[in-house]
Amino acid sequence: MLSKKGEKLRLLMATRNKGKMVELQKNLEKLEIELFSLEDIKDIPILEEKGTTFLENAISKAQTAAKASGLITLADDSGLAVDALDGQPGIYSARFAGVHADDQKNNKKLLQMMKGIPYEKRTAHFISVIAIALPEGRFFSVEGKCEGIILERMRGTEGFGYDPLFYIPEMGKTFAELTLDEKNRISHRGKALKKAAQQLGKFLFL
Ligand code: IMP
Repeated sequence: MLSKKGEKLRLLMATRNKGKMVELQKNLEKLEIELFSLEDIKDIPILEEKGTTFLENAISKAQTAAKASGLITLADDSGLAVDALDGQPGIYSARFAGVHADDQKNNKKLLQMMKGIPYEKRTAHFISVIAIALPEGRFFSVEGKCEGIILERMRGTEGFGYDPLFYIPEMGKTFAELTLDEKNRISHRGKALKKAAQQLGKFLFL
């Protein structure tokens, strides 16, 4: 199932998050890689997040899907860490407002918890840990970060998750007010992917 000489590299994206998938595809479109999603491959087990760190979760998701599919697999575990909330929601970003939470509920909960906190104390960062694993288990990982401020109200309609609340002072815009290309250039995921692309060749041909 791995690529043969002269063929495009085949890479599975182990995510069911549409927002992430769109960003990953856009980032990798210029590389000689044939991308697969979990929709393309049958019988991949549910990728549970039982770890206590982004790294543990990213490795576990990548290794589980690589073993089940026989494909080189990339997984991203990411989240938002707010300084005034001691790093919350962190690894629980997707289910901050509960197991059945959606982006709207998570943003609402974040705004409620940050009521009354002044602008200068609303600092936060996004983290993305990307792991790439082979079916036999060998992997490497990289990390990307992006600093910003949590606004008091949502702005913008692009992106996903906490994007409408995450403001980049240098750009005068939230993540949700950026185009996909603009976000990818500065985002945690964009930075992690850049590092992953730089290290992939060495990892594969070790
Ligand atoms: P994961 O699937 O456990 O990695 O959860 C990631 C969660 O973190 C998403 O569901 C979002 O809530 C949040 N998140 C991660 N990256 C971003 C981003 O680029 N924009 C907005 N929210 C993000």
